[in-house]
Amino acid sequence: MTNIFEYAPAPESRAIVDIKPSYGLFINGEFVDGHGTSFKTINPATEEVLAEVAEASDADVDEAVRAARRAYTRVWSRMSGAERAKYLYRIARIIQERGRELAVLESIDNGKPIKESRDVDIPVVAAHFFYYAGWADKLEHSGYGSTPLGVAGQVIPWNFPLLMLAWKIAPALACGNTVVLKPAETTPLTALLFAEICQQADLPPGVVNIVTGAGDTGRAIVAHPDVDKVAFTGSTEVGKAIARAVAGTEKKVTLELGGKAANIVFDDAPLDQAIEGIVNGIFFNQGHVCCAGSRLLVQESVADEVMTRLKRRMSTLRVGDPLDKNTDVGAINSAEQLAKIRELSQIGEDEGAERWSTPCDLPSKGFWFEPTVFTGVSQAHRIAREEIFGPVLSVLTFRTPSEAVEKANNTPFGLSAGVWTDKGSRILSMANKLRAGVVWANTFNKFDPTSPFGGYKESGYGREGGRHGLEAYLKGADA
Ligand code: NAP
Ligand code: MG
Repeated sequence: MTNIFEYAPAPESRAIVDIKPSYGLFINGEFVDGHGTSFKTINPATEEVLAEVAEASDADVDEAVRAARRAYTRVWSRMSGAERAKYLYRIARIIQERGRELAVLESIDNGKPIKESRDVDIPVVAAHFFYYAGWADKLEHSGYGSTPLGVAGQVIPWNFPLLMLAWKIAPALACGNTVVLKPAETTPLTALLFAEICQQADLPPGVVNIVTGAGDTGRAIVAHPDVDKVAFTGSTEVGKAIARAVAGTEKKVTLELGGKAANIVFDDAPLDQAIEGIVNGIFFNQGHVCCAGSRLLVQESVADEVMTRLKRRMSTLRVGDPLDKNTDVGAINSAEQLAKIRELSQIGEDEGAERWSTPCDLPSKGFWFEPTVFTGVSQAHRIAREEIFGPVLSVLTFRTPSEAVEKANNTPFGLSAGVWTDKGSRILSMANKLRAGVVWANTFNKFDPTSPFGGYKESGYGREGGRHGLEAYLKGADA
């Protein structure tokens, strides 16, 4: 924690969540033991073991896919869109009603600050279900037809556990598909609470199946012959393996992969707002954000001024207990991720970039990394090219708009970008030239269910959110 201000902790109570000692798999509307082993999920802020969670074997995945197929054929694909919508609206309302419980559980299992899980993750999760509930009876107007694909196999990462689940499950169900979803190994608990919410909403058994496990469970879902569609969010490396695994099959695939977004600050930008946008862009969710603004491109004439203000602002960030309502930066999700962040940061120093980290006392237990910025970064540096997926910002400078575009696009990724300028015409011309799925202007990390999100190049293919997000779960206009 920083010692700049006097500080009184304001921890959110965890009494609202009821974490069970162990969890089974959610198959066909019930929690079952499964045939595999189990693993532990921990609180990354304390290293406390939270629960023992079943690891789904190939046989369990097979059972889940069968349950999903039965529910698809007998119930879900036969139901009218208006009927399906009722279930989705019900789920959305229960998410709102149980919002505090979901937010606290997400922060405990993931390490993200409660103010983010409470004010961003959970409200956007509910908004996704509300939004796609609205589409369920209007699919003939989607432009993609109204015929579902069948069973969707969905594999998600640990950075936004419940939000990624919502992005996957809401459109799939609205379109009439059934799902088998695997949450990440380090963050299974909110997906399991979501399974309880499905029971509470009386969702027909088998429409949603949650199989916990690690990479092998994910692989079994992707490889299952009776899965019609694979939806994956995660690393580019695993995304490529999945693309290879489904090549030559009939399976439809969407991949949402990594990023290395440029956040571009011109000299006419409102600097105080830009500083807030830079901080939000890279320190939101500890920088565990695929679209994080991890490359700051700042116009040379204001570079010194921006750096002075940025460091001053970074010094006020509170790092610590995720359940404290004052916390800005929580825990790194796992020891493994912390090791990756440390390794790449060390590489940054070895490559000759200059490192500055906020002065803060980190808790003795748990996984932590101080908000860090590297200056003097060149385009060839690994910290400018590779995703660090942590609270680490690399700063490069530019002189002209065309140099900014060239540097911004000089990356294998293309998920998002930010532009800070007073000129509307410059925003439009930059947005046209940046090879990124999302371009934010004078803001960053804004999410809305109505807006499609997805990447170019190695950031993946397919779009999630908005009308475009329906395409991934429908057979197409001429089916
Ligand atoms: P990851 O290692 O690719 O894991 C993602 C999910 O895939 C996890 O559930 C993982 O299981 C599972 N998995 C691992 N190997 C698999 C395999 N061979 N076949 C099928 N599934 C497999 O990624 P991560 O480290 O968890 O997440 C961070 C990455 O996700 C970053 O690169 C980030 O940019 C990207 N991301 C992208 C978006 C987006 O929308 N574009 C959003 C969020 C994150 P376990 O981890 O449980 O073992
Ligand atoms: Mg955990």
